[in-house]
Amino acid sequence: MDLQLKEKVVFVTGGGKGIGSGITLALAREGAIPIVLSRSAILPEFKEKLEALTKDYEFIQIDLNETDKIQPIVDDMAKRRGSIYGIVNNAGANDNKDLETTSWRDFEKSLHENLTHYYALVHAAVPYLKDSRGSILNISSKTALTGQGKTSAYAAAKGAILALTREWAAALAKDHVRSNAIVVSECWTPLYANWIKTFDDPEARKKVIADKIPFEHRFTSIEEIADMAVFLLSPLSSHTTAQWVFVDGGYVHLDRALS
Ligand code: NAP
Repeated sequence: MDLQLKEKVVFVTGGGKGIGSGITLALAREGAIPIVLSRSAILPEFKEKLEALTKDYEFIQIDLNETDKIQPIVDDMAKRRGSIYGIVNNAGANDNKDLETTSWRDFEKSLHENLTHYYALVHAAVPYLKDSRGSILNISSKTALTGQGKTSAYAAAKGAILALTREWAAALAKDHVRSNAIVVSECWTPLYANWIKTFDDPEARKKVIADKIPFEHRFTSIEEIADMAVFLLSPLSSHTTAQWVFVDGGYVHLDRALS
């Protein structure tokens, strides 16, 4: 299936690791031009995989928390590349800022780190997205809907991201720009694998988590998120907007007591 993404310029925040890296590679496979915005330098292993698919990409090192740096990067890209088709807002981290011990200042700082750059990047790109009749994809988390019990700020940011997905779909429908979100529950990434290793019995811990995922009692793979991401970005989903798509093995909607 040709997703009609060839030569389309798509920003991917946090696109050099984890879920973002999978989306970058899937875009490259479709002939799109990924523009990765990443805090850390490009990992050699990822670079090798990406360059086996395309030489036409850009990797820009930026801490998105330095939010004023976003607009000039977007304007420069539009000038050099001629158009911007897509935004994948993906960078973020569950920082476990809980209700009882987190001050409002730390709460607000965490919101800045997980939410503000999602807004700033789309705000900066709006004129170009209108010109290209482009597509926005926000990566959110199950915590927005299920809570987690120890992460007020992250849950609030991810909830706001779902609200913004609908707000932007409403604001930009007249301009033929679509806005969708993917809700992730438990996706197996290198970072997740490292975290599991901190437990006394990592395999047992992994099984406890996987057992709560109704469909096949396993983690979602990076590729399963990436495949949905490129479809939602692509013109093949041309009448899909304002959607929260749950790529989560039924975690949010199915009764987790199912066996
Ligand atoms: P990951 O492996 O840590 O990758 C995230 C990438 O984003 C990293 O490259 C990270 O850079 C980058 N990043 C984070 N903050 C940044 C900033 N301020 N500026 C620039 N880059 C920044 O995480 P992941 O698991 O793939 O998560 C991707 C998204 O999925 C996040 O929004 C997360 O909340 C969401 N999600 C994931 C899961 C899951 O099970 N994995 C579940 C629910 C939701 P550094 O390497 O420099 O930190």
